[in-house]
Amino acid sequence: MLKTRGMRKEVKLIGPFKQLISLKGLPLRGPLNDSQLEIIENAGILMEGNNILNIDIFDKLSKNISTNDILITLSGDFVVLPSYIDCHTHISFDGDRSSDFAIRNGGGSYLEIAANGGGIWSTVNQTRQCSLLKIIELILKRANDLLKQGVTTIEIKSGYGLTVEQEIKLLRAINQSNLTSASDLISTCLAAHTLPADYLGAHEDYLEEMIQKLFPILKAEKLSNRIDAFIERSAFSSKQIRPYFEEAKRLGFELCVHADQFTPSGSSLAVEFGALSADHLESSTEKEIELLSNSNTTCVALPAATLGLGCGFAPARKLLDAGSILAIATDWNPGSAPMGNLMECASILGSMEKLSNAELLAGITFRAAKALNLSDRGRLLPGFLADFVIYEIDNYQMIPYLGGKLRPWQVWKNGELAYTRN
Ligand SMILES: [Zn+2]
Repeated sequence: MLKTRGMRKEVKLIGPFKQLISLKGLPLRGPLNDSQLEIIENAGILMEGNNILNIDIFDKLSKNISTNDILITLSGDFVVLPSYIDCHTHISFDGDRSSDFAIRNGGGSYLEIAANGGGIWSTVNQTRQCSLLKIIELILKRANDLLKQGVTTIEIKSGYGLTVEQEIKLLRAINQSNLTSASDLISTCLAAHTLPADYLGAHEDYLEEMIQKLFPILKAEKLSNRIDAFIERSAFSSKQIRPYFEEAKRLGFELCVHADQFTPSGSSLAVEFGALSADHLESSTEKEIELLSNSNTTCVALPAATLGLGCGFAPARKLLDAGSILAIATDWNPGSAPMGNLMECASILGSMEKLSNAELLAGITFRAAKALNLSDRGRLLPGFLADFVIYEIDNYQMIPYLGGKLRPWQVWKNGELAYTRN
């Protein structure tokens, strides 16, 4: 099936692919039809180092390579796409919340979950007790699980430490994991996840402490360039977050917001501050949809949280039709979204919100890259990173159709083979 010729590493050609889905030319915002997808048949990918040198018909490319270049000739039917980007996860945690799931589905309230020792506070307690090395191990295991699904860029939030010291531990763990992970792991500081139960003071005091003590360390150690905040009745109000974001912005941090999950709150602040993304949006109304669609803030739908909590989906169809930028992410976390399957999330959202395959694929590739302010990935084009995912099929439509069940055959990152299914 796989033949490799030559020794020099710099230039590689792989193909032919029955279908190459480049995502070339698709706009960053608004609705997409599948007829807009560029599908190149019998295609090849020519790589040099980390990057794509050219995309074209395989036979054409193979005629122009030197005998020193590496030629990988595939036999059989394969489809290749840009590898995926999960732009919203919380995978720096220990423990699970399976009992919360059982109680909630049995009709139990948040109070009953808390009385049983569950809820976010139980994750914070377990994560605080977890060593740096153990957190790294957990992050790498979860990142590897995503890699096998074809995800090669993963945003990871802190937020289960909720003290200066513990948030630093989690952000160091994410950064150290990035040194060994095949994927790019991008850290986000979510110290403003919720007010910790053991904090002796008001919300404003807590946020001020983070500004004074945590922000300088994030900068000095380069632990994260991204600040996230959970704006919701159960977490922080827009009024409380405003000075926190003002300071973060003054220091040059990029911003993102957990917005409109249970009540329409947060997306207007996200737009006002020019946040890279407003994530969740299950409760966004026409007003928020209009605000977001007139902004450069990427809307991130998190369908797994909808499934985990049994509530509504983000109004993805309306957001796209209004001209928004829509990404889709797993929200992988132990409370509401423990599944961590990106294609499953995309497929479910597609069925529930009537999104085209092009909109789903855009939402987990170049539009997700936009949420992370990355412009070097998410499409198969010359100059882009050679990050791609290969399936043993002859028609790309099988991928969203099978909803995450179809596993990639190979995943490539920075021009190197990062995973092969046995
Ligand atoms: Zn989240």
